[in-house]
Amino acid sequence: MLFQGIAAAPGLALARCLIVQPLPESNMMAQSIARDQVDAELGLFAQAVKSASAQLEKILDRARQAGDETKADIIGAQAMLLTDPLLEEGVCEKVSTQFFSAIRAVKETTDEQADILAGLDDPYLRERAADVKDIGNRILAILMGVQEIDLSFLEVDTILVGREITPSQMASLDASKVKGIVAEIGGKTSHTAILANNMEIAAVLGCQGILASIQDGIPLLIDGTKGTVETEISAERNISLQQEVKRRKIIKESLRELIGRPATTTDGFTVELAANVMDPDGAAKADKLGADGIGLYRTEFLFMDRTTAPSEQEQYEAYIKVVKAMKGKPVIIRTMDIGGDKEIAYLNLPKEENPFLGYRAIRICLQDKPLFMTQLRAILRAGKHGKALVMYPMIASLEELREANRILQEAKESLRAEGIPFDENLAPGIMVEIPSAAVTADLLIREAAFFSIGSNDLTQYTLAVDRMNERISKLYNHFQPGVLRLIRSVIETANRAGGGKFAGMCGEMASDPLATLLLLGFGMTEFSVNPSSLLTIKKIITSVDMSYAQEVAEKAMALSTAEEISAYLSAALPPELRDYL
Ligand code: PEP
Ligand code: MG
Repeated sequence: MLFQGIAAAPGLALARCLIVQPLPESNMMAQSIARDQVDAELGLFAQAVKSASAQLEKILDRARQAGDETKADIIGAQAMLLTDPLLEEGVCEKVSTQFFSAIRAVKETTDEQADILAGLDDPYLRERAADVKDIGNRILAILMGVQEIDLSFLEVDTILVGREITPSQMASLDASKVKGIVAEIGGKTSHTAILANNMEIAAVLGCQGILASIQDGIPLLIDGTKGTVETEISAERNISLQQEVKRRKIIKESLRELIGRPATTTDGFTVELAANVMDPDGAAKADKLGADGIGLYRTEFLFMDRTTAPSEQEQYEAYIKVVKAMKGKPVIIRTMDIGGDKEIAYLNLPKEENPFLGYRAIRICLQDKPLFMTQLRAILRAGKHGKALVMYPMIASLEELREANRILQEAKESLRAEGIPFDENLAPGIMVEIPSAAVTADLLIREAAFFSIGSNDLTQYTLAVDRMNERISKLYNHFQPGVLRLIRSVIETANRAGGGKFAGMCGEMASDPLATLLLLGFGMTEFSVNPSSLLTIKKIITSVDMSYAQEVAEKAMALSTAEEISAYLSAALPPELRDYL
């Protein structure tokens, strides 16, 4: 049987599954207590919170020792949830006035809090419901004396399957043995997905109905790139799949020989092959992979999972880490791209009918000047420690670029007046992700140092297809001729401008191996890709020559539909490269 879920982290994995059972529900709800048991139950709760805190502390220590900041941040945030007064108040109220057992009170309190989060429109906050439930389950397991499976010591290769795989389970699992994870709930922006990507574990989330169709220990094949899970694998097929997984692993490993080599075509044309990151940890990994720089540092993640905006100093420290990790290679720091699908509670953004067309990214920054100034000052200061560039997201017009640049000047003046060192030459560029910016690229390039094409949003806005809406996801295609014509013209405009100006791309299209020849042929000189695709894209670039890429681009642009174009691009890739797709 083939199940289709959400492709949350790439990779092909074949292994026996281990079903991660939820806590037993049956004995929770019935429990009431007598009045004279109130103090004893509250004592049990306090003790369980202490033990949970000690467990998290251990996981946190292990994550820190392994230098895994992402894992440490997530577990740290969960440890803070344990001390949230709302949790204690909720439980105490239910035990003392409704005479619930501690177990029932914890279950109901955390469920209520998680339900509130799950009911919010913002997908990011919705995903945080999982963290609250995760904490609740940890306390419940202690109260119930349930022996949880220790995922940190597994003996054989395993694919974990559960209704939900929680962030703390992810953070504690044995990454050398867990080859994949499958869950019935969860999405691309959940912490579980973020951790799976970081740990290079294939993940398929939102895979509804899978649990009813499998038993513990059966072999599963999961494809985290396509979002599929295959069950009922015959012994014969299992053997051929094992060979396929091995072959892919060998191919992936063989790509490591490209680390340290430039992304140069066979006829000597070199492009910058940079990585997209969301935190300092990602930058350190990108550097190890030999990335030529960071083409997109999504700073908005620093603003999430907290109750107030990070101070200038906190931002400065995070940006410095990324800049230093890249040792003088360029780091494009994008000012926060909040709004759309990424909302932040403490900014009190109004609920909107069309959030992707609303108060988002640079539009927020230009209205909330203190927020923008703080970030620009931190970026300018970090620029002193390496090579940083600043990038504004969602620029739709020259007025916005001018206003952003004006505030950048103000930020410089304020630092100068205070005698704080900063990078005087920090170059401002823009994301080209709105069609109006693409068609007025000739006007914008005069006042921007570079362009980075945001193909994710450019595709959504050009085709008027909401990138989050699964019902119309088939219409969302970056190979539509309308999107490609805009991309080509933006690249050509930047290349004509001279003076070291360039157009790169940091949208997911840059990580799509089918698009590599086309973008090279358009004359694009900077690719910023997700780190797991970096070596694949380098392999393609270093295997082809520029005149061939130009010919492919020309032929593709003479075709009329996205389907024809992707079929042609697939056929145009040299056969020996197909294995790397
Ligand atoms: C894009 O739109 O292509 C992009 C890189 O930005 P984000 O995905 O963060 O909107
Ligand atoms: Mg975007």
